[in-house]
Amino acid sequence: MQSIVVHYQELALKGKNRPWFIARLVRNLKEATADLNVISVRALPGRIEMVLGVETKWPLVRERVTRIFGVANFGLARRVTGDLDAVASSILDDLGDTQTSSFRVKTRRTDKRYPLTSPQIDREIGGRIKTVKGWPVNLSLPDLTIYVEMLTDSTFYYFDKIPGSGGLPSGVSGRVLCLQSGGIDSPVAAYRMMKRGCRVQFIHFHSYPILSKASQDKVREIVMLLTKHQLHSRLFMVAFGDIQRQVVLRVPPPLRVVVYRRLMLRIADHFARQQKAKALVTGEALGQVASQTLDNISTINAVTNLPIFRPLIGLDKEEITIEARKIETYPISIIPDQDCCQLFIPKHPSTKAKLQAVQEAESGLPVDDLVHQAVSEVVREDMTFPGQSQVAD
Ligand code: ATP
Ligand code: MG
Repeated sequence: MQSIVVHYQELALKGKNRPWFIARLVRNLKEATADLNVISVRALPGRIEMVLGVETKWPLVRERVTRIFGVANFGLARRVTGDLDAVASSILDDLGDTQTSSFRVKTRRTDKRYPLTSPQIDREIGGRIKTVKGWPVNLSLPDLTIYVEMLTDSTFYYFDKIPGSGGLPSGVSGRVLCLQSGGIDSPVAAYRMMKRGCRVQFIHFHSYPILSKASQDKVREIVMLLTKHQLHSRLFMVAFGDIQRQVVLRVPPPLRVVVYRRLMLRIADHFARQQKAKALVTGEALGQVASQTLDNISTINAVTNLPIFRPLIGLDKEEITIEARKIETYPISIIPDQDCCQLFIPKHPSTKAKLQAVQEAESGLPVDDLVHQAVSEVVREDMTFPGQSQVAD
């Protein structure tokens, strides 16, 4: 029987939360592979086993498991019962006519009552393999490592240890709401929060019908891609064009960008509270553009009591771009679109918008009405992976 042995990030899983973390990871692995004929996913001492059916396509399962946070590494394994002779002969069967220049056996045992230590088991199994194959043993840099994991009633072995995504299982850290543009930065910010165990919901501000639907399509595609990691996502699409028009009528040009951002945050604050999200997330990096100076960031922050996480605050664009490529959102982000922020953007936005000046500028705006209108017209989209997306109202 083929299984996948999944190891989680040990250090993160200490203490009282451990069983809960593991249960969540089991559930996430189950959901992520729900359509791939995986027979069972269950927690064993120190690891998780995913039992594969005869029909299961390993490359597909492998790709899915790679995206699940909380997984340190995993391997396609066989599970056998019986003594060391039985284990060694099963390994030899599976090796078939594999050739290698050197090898080692690396054992972990969960049951410390077992009469042999791990290095002794390495030697016992390794000796049997060496006798048949004649391969030299190399403990420091072997060409082939045979991983053996002895549990109380059975033994796993596998030949390839695949790195996982690391981080914490999606959902264990609570919910946050990410302000999601179609740009390069905010998808990376969302990914980073997901990796720390947050369930990320998304809010996008668009200027349709003044501008095209391109930004919405891009954001939808980005969220669908990120949903492969967290399996369930919610996206709020908010019409922002009218609000921007009102700002243009009443707010002096240098302050407009900060006023747009404050309005975005007020609306985001509403949905975060409604959804019981405990923080907002943005893709801002200090000094990257005019709205992201220290002065402007603090003036923007003042509209909400929720914490605002900016996981990219200390990164260069170059560093963010490398990460965006790695998580595969980059090709979507660079598709040309007309983001609402390019609309009505003044030539010389203030880089030092003081709170008092901004508040004065906003006093001519029906802020509550604008927020209320945006909230009442929101379009909500729920996405599930694997599966379809759904538009609700
Ligand atoms: P990004 O690449 O994420 O768009 P950016 O460098 O273009 O970032 P800004 O346009 O100043 O920077 O946006 C800063 C942050 O504000 C974004 O990272 C995002 O969190 C939020 N934001 C900007 N535009 C929108 C939008 N249309 N809808 C939702 N959030 C937005
Ligand atoms: Mg942007």
